[in-house]
Amino acid sequence: ESAVRIDEASSPMVAQFLELKAAHPGTLLFFRMGDFYELFFEDAVAAAPALDIALTKRGRHQGAEIPMCGVPAHNAEPYLHKLIRKGFKVAVCEQMEDPALARRRGGRSLVRREVVRIVTPGTLTEDNLLEARRHNYLAALARSGGRWAVAWIDISTGEFLTEAVDLRSLPALLSRIAPGEIVLASRHLQEADLMAALADHGHLLSPARDGAFESDDALRRLQQFFDIVALEALGDFTRAEIAAAGALLDYVEITQKGALPRLGRPSRIDPEKVLKLDPATRRNLELDRSLSGERSGSLLTCIDRTMTNAGARLLAERLAAPLVDIPAIRERQDQIAALVDDSHRNERLRGILKSCPDLQRALSRVSLKRAGPRDLKAIAAGLKVAAELQASEAGEDAIAVLLAALPDTGSLADLLNQSLIDEPPFIARDGGFVREGALPELDETRSLRDHSRRLVAALEQRYRESTGIATLKIRHNSMLGYFIEVGANHRSRIPQDFVQRQGMANAVRFSTAELSELEHKVAKAGERAIELELALFERLAAAVMMAAEAIAATARLLAELDVACALADVARALRWTRPHLVEEPVFKVEGGRHPVVEWALARERASFVANDCCLDEESRLWLMTGPNMAGKSTFLRQNALIVVLAQMGSFVPAERAVIGLVDRLFSRVGAADDLARGRSTFMVEMVETATILNAAGPRSFVILDEIGRGTATYDGLSLAWAVLEHLHDVNRSRGLFATHYHELTALSARLKSLAAWTMRVKEWKGEVVFLHEVTRGTADRSYGIHVAKLSGLPPLVVRRAEQVLKRLEEGEARAGPASLVDDLPLFALEAGESSPATLPVQAGQSVMTESQLVEPQAEILAARLSAVEPDDLTPRQALDLVFELKRLL
Ligand code: ADP
Repeated sequence: ESAVRIDEASSPMVAQFLELKAAHPGTLLFFRMGDFYELFFEDAVAAAPALDIALTKRGRHQGAEIPMCGVPAHNAEPYLHKLIRKGFKVAVCEQMEDPALARRRGGRSLVRREVVRIVTPGTLTEDNLLEARRHNYLAALARSGGRWAVAWIDISTGEFLTEAVDLRSLPALLSRIAPGEIVLASRHLQEADLMAALADHGHLLSPARDGAFESDDALRRLQQFFDIVALEALGDFTRAEIAAAGALLDYVEITQKGALPRLGRPSRIDPEKVLKLDPATRRNLELDRSLSGERSGSLLTCIDRTMTNAGARLLAERLAAPLVDIPAIRERQDQIAALVDDSHRNERLRGILKSCPDLQRALSRVSLKRAGPRDLKAIAAGLKVAAELQASEAGEDAIAVLLAALPDTGSLADLLNQSLIDEPPFIARDGGFVREGALPELDETRSLRDHSRRLVAALEQRYRESTGIATLKIRHNSMLGYFIEVGANHRSRIPQDFVQRQGMANAVRFSTAELSELEHKVAKAGERAIELELALFERLAAAVMMAAEAIAATARLLAELDVACALADVARALRWTRPHLVEEPVFKVEGGRHPVVEWALARERASFVANDCCLDEESRLWLMTGPNMAGKSTFLRQNALIVVLAQMGSFVPAERAVIGLVDRLFSRVGAADDLARGRSTFMVEMVETATILNAAGPRSFVILDEIGRGTATYDGLSLAWAVLEHLHDVNRSRGLFATHYHELTALSARLKSLAAWTMRVKEWKGEVVFLHEVTRGTADRSYGIHVAKLSGLPPLVVRRAEQVLKRLEEGEARAGPASLVDDLPLFALEAGESSPATLPVQAGQSVMTESQLVEPQAEILAARLSAVEPDDLTPRQALDLVFELKRLL
C-alpha cells in the first residue's frame, strides 16, 4: 500500500501516478514516460537495488524529494524478468495517447495513461520471460463445502486442468504441478492448517478477492468464457474445482486487463489415475532435479531427447504424473513400440519435428493480441510440419493413427505463408512483413512510394546540376523529413526558391515546394502501406483465432509424437524394454539398471551391473544388507525409477519387466538436514517414515534406505525393526528395505513375506571388491572401515579403527555389545615410533578407567600428593587440590 497520499499540492502527474498506484496494490508500477518506464516513491526504492540500477530523484512531493528509477521501454523485458524472478509483480502503465495530442488539448492536460497489464510469475507469455522447455503454471486453490480443489492453467499454452484434493495430499499435488504462482482467497491466509500445507509454497501465493471464488459466480464465468450452457458437458467437476477454475479466469482477466487468452476447456484429473508421489519421494528420486537442485543428473535430463519445446514440456509433465491406468499406459507404449524397431522411420520423423516452432506459445500470444508477424509465421511453419509428417506416413500402427488425427489446416498455413515474407520482424508496428503479391493495393502503394523515392533521387541530381553544387544532397531524418543539405561555403549559390530550415556550423538545410510535395507523397504512401499491412495482420490473426482449436490440437499431437519419438530413441539407444503392466501386485524385473548411474558410468567407460528384483506374495519385502558403497541405494532407486518410467508410459532399463500397477510410490532415502525448517536429519527421517506408514497400502511400492541411522544404535535398530514389521503386517506393500543393522535379518525367519538379500562382495588380497551383484542372504561384515580407507582418511585413523573394531568384536563375543570400551590409547598403535611410556602427559587428558592409568600419570599423581601437607591446607586449598588431581585423571 502506498503511504503517499494525494493532496492539493500534488502535481497532476504525481496525482495520476498515485491514483494508478492505489488501483494496483501489491505491484510495482512501471509508469511510461516517453522512452522510459519510470518507477517512483517506494517502488523505486524497492526496484533500484533489485535491478542494480541507480536510484535518482525527480521533483518534490509534500516537501520531500521523490525517489525515482527507470528502465528503457524498448528493452524492458530483461528488467521485468529480474523483478518477476525476485517475486515482484509489475503493473505496466502505458501512455494511451500521443503526448502531442495532450499538449494540443492545452492547459495542464496530462497524457492519458492506463495500466495495460499486470505481469506476475504465473501469467507470463513472452518467450524471453519463460523457460522454453518447462510449463509455467498458474494455479488456484479453492474450498467449497469443506472440500478443496486445485485448478491450473498455462497461459502460454492454453492448458487448463483441475483436480480435487484434500489438505493432506495438497503438498504432493503442488510439488507435481510445480506452479509459478498460486492464487487463493485472501480469507484463507488466516487458516493455520492450510498455511502449514502450503509451507513450501508460501513465496508463490497471490491472495485474491474472496468473491472470485464464489462457486455460482465462478460457474457463470466459466460457462460464459467457454460459451457453454452447462459445465457438466465437460466433466463431473466438484464445486471446489469450479470455484478454483472460475477464480483463475477472474485473476487472468484482472492481470491481463480484460484480454483473455485462448484456453482449452478445463479437464478434470481423476486423482486415482495418477501415481501418488509425495514431495520427499519426488526429490529423493531426482526425477527432474538432482538432490543438489540441478537439472543435470536428473532422470528427466537423462531421457529428454525431444526435438521441440512442446515435446519437452509434455515429457516433463508425464514424468511428473505417471499414470495408474493400464489402457492409457498401453496407448503410450504402443506409440513407442511402433518406432523403436524402425530407427529410420524415427530419425525421419525427428528430422521433420526439429523444424517445428513453438505453436502453443505463438497461438497464446495471438489470442492475447500480443503477437507479431514472427508468431504468425511460426504458426504457419508448425502447420506445415504437421502436413509434412502426415504426408510422409501411411499404415495403421499407433503412430499412423496419431498422425491421421491431425486436423487439416493446410489452407490456413498457405494463407499465412502467401501473405508473410520468409523472415518477418517480431513486431507489426513498422510494417515490412507482407509478401509482395499478397495484397494488390499494398503493392501499388509501395510502388508509388518507391516511385516517389526515385523522383527524390532524380530531384537531387537536377538540383546539383542547376546549382552547380556537386556535394548537394537530399537527406531524410525524423525531425525534418526530407531536406536539401549543402555545405555552408556554397551558400551564395542557393537559388531564391530554397527555403532555409536549419543552419549548422558547416552545413545549411533547405526545403523546396517540389520536395515537400514529393515528401508528402512518400509519407502518405508509407503511412498507407503500414495501414494496409496492419489491417492484413489483423485479418490473419483473426483467421488464426478462427482455427485456434485445430491449431491447439495439432500442437498437442505433435508434442505427443515428439515424446514418443524421444522415448523410442532412448529405448533403442539404451536397450530398454517394454514393461508388461498388470493389475496384480507383483514386481518382476530381470536385468534392471539405474538409468542415470549407468549413464554416468558409461561416460567413464565403466559398465553397470544389472540386477533382478522379484517381489511377489512369497517375498513382498526385500531386506537388503551389504557394505556402504556396495550399491544398495542404487538398487533401491533403480527399481523405484522403473516403476515411474513404466507408469509414465515409457520403456524401462531392464531386460524384462512385469509390473503390477503401483498406486503410491514412497522413498525414504538418506535425507539432508532440513535446518531451514529447524528439523534434524533424524526428525526429517521420522516424519517421512510416518508419512509412509500412515499411507502405504497393498498396491504401494516403498523403498526405505537406512531407517534409524540418525539416532543411537539401539534406538535405531528398534525403530527399523518395528517399521519393517509394520510394513510387512499392516501396510502389506511391496518394498525394498536397505539396512546396516544385520540383526534385522533375524526377522526374515519370522516374517513370511520378507526375504533377505545382500550385495556381493569379494575379498581379494586383503582388499574388498564390490561386485554390485544382488544375491540371496545376509552380509557377514559391513566393511565400513574399508570404505573409509577409500575415502582418504589418514592411515593412522584407519588402523586404529581396525584395532578398535577387532576388540569390539571380541568383546561382543565375550560380554555382549555392551563392551564398548577400549583399553588402548590412540597412539599405542605406533608402538615402534613412540611408546606410551614416553608420551608426554598433560593435565586434563582423559583416560577411560582406573585400570588404564599409565605410568607417567601415576608418577605425577604420586609426586604431587607426597608434596602435600594436609594439616597446612586451608579448606579452600584442599578443595582446589581435589580439582587439580581430578584434572590429572
Ligand atoms: P550403498 O547405498 O550401498 O552405499 P550406492 O548405491 O550409493 O551404495 O553405490 C555406490 C556406488 O557404486 C555408486 O555411485 C555407483 O558408482 C556404484 N554402483 C552401484 N551399483 C552399481 C551397479 N549395479 N553396477 C555398477 N556400479 C554400481
